[in-house]
Amino acid sequence: MKVLVAEQCGFCHGVRNAISVAEETLAHHKRGNHVYSLGPIIHNKDEVERLAKVGLKTVAKVEEIRSGTALIRSHGAAPEQIAKLEGKGLSIVDATCILVKKVQHIAKELEKDGYKVVIIGDEDHPEVQAVMGCATDVVVIGDENDLHKLPQNARLGIICQTTQSPEHFGRVLGAIGRSGFSDLKVINTLCKEAIKRQESAVQLCRQVDIMFVLGGLKSANTCQLAELCKKYNSQTFHLQNWKELDKNILSGKNIAGVTAGASTPDWIIAEFVKNLEAFDAGGG
Ligand code: SF4
Repeated sequence: MKVLVAEQCGFCHGVRNAISVAEETLAHHKRGNHVYSLGPIIHNKDEVERLAKVGLKTVAKVEEIRSGTALIRSHGAAPEQIAKLEGKGLSIVDATCILVKKVQHIAKELEKDGYKVVIIGDEDHPEVQAVMGCATDVVVIGDENDLHKLPQNARLGIICQTTQSPEHFGRVLGAIGRSGFSDLKVINTLCKEAIKRQESAVQLCRQVDIMFVLGGLKSANTCQLAELCKKYNSQTFHLQNWKELDKNILSGKNIAGVTAGASTPDWIIAEFVKNLEAFDAGGG
């Protein structure tokens, strides 16, 4: 099968950095001194399993870490969590993406300047939760249905989860504007790397018979990519890896497109593309 790969796909610099920081920390830690990631280091099951095999332990809460090294993933952590880790005397390795750090700083500054901090994003996402910990009573707006959460007559300082699509950010901003809030300060905190992946995916999915979006099912940016591609190509499938592919869906298709979220490792993409190309020649 002919396979075209999106020009921009796979690891962004924030995730690549977090993985290399994790690998370096694991390579240099002393025997018996465990390395813990506070939450999965990235939203990719295969990569988390690979790193677990070389010693990275994933925990859900600070309370689960008693000693050793705590690694802060690219999504960051709330200041309260960092303080708790410090209080336990743990060694902390911070792999928070620099853009995410910037968003956290913006939230603090907005609050200092008297704005009610509003973040457009998914309140269950760790990046959003970390930002929520940087100011008091941050309001999270998932979509237009959440506008009732906004306090009347407040001065709103609006930011966005880095991996949301510009279309979604714009739509929610429009709805807030229409709701009569007059004192708004909007800071565009969308990540350019995520936007480039979205543009590149949309361009590619229009040219192919079938489109594959590779990445974790909990990865926000991968889900965004899949949703976008579905709008332009109904034959879009979000898969985590080659093993998940039902070969029957390839029947009658000549050209396949492949893209991947910012947390999808190169080896998953390479394996998928290689097998898909071979499917044509060898029948899978
Ligand atoms: S998608 Fe953007 S903000 Fe998120 S980790 Fe990657 S570079 Fe950082």
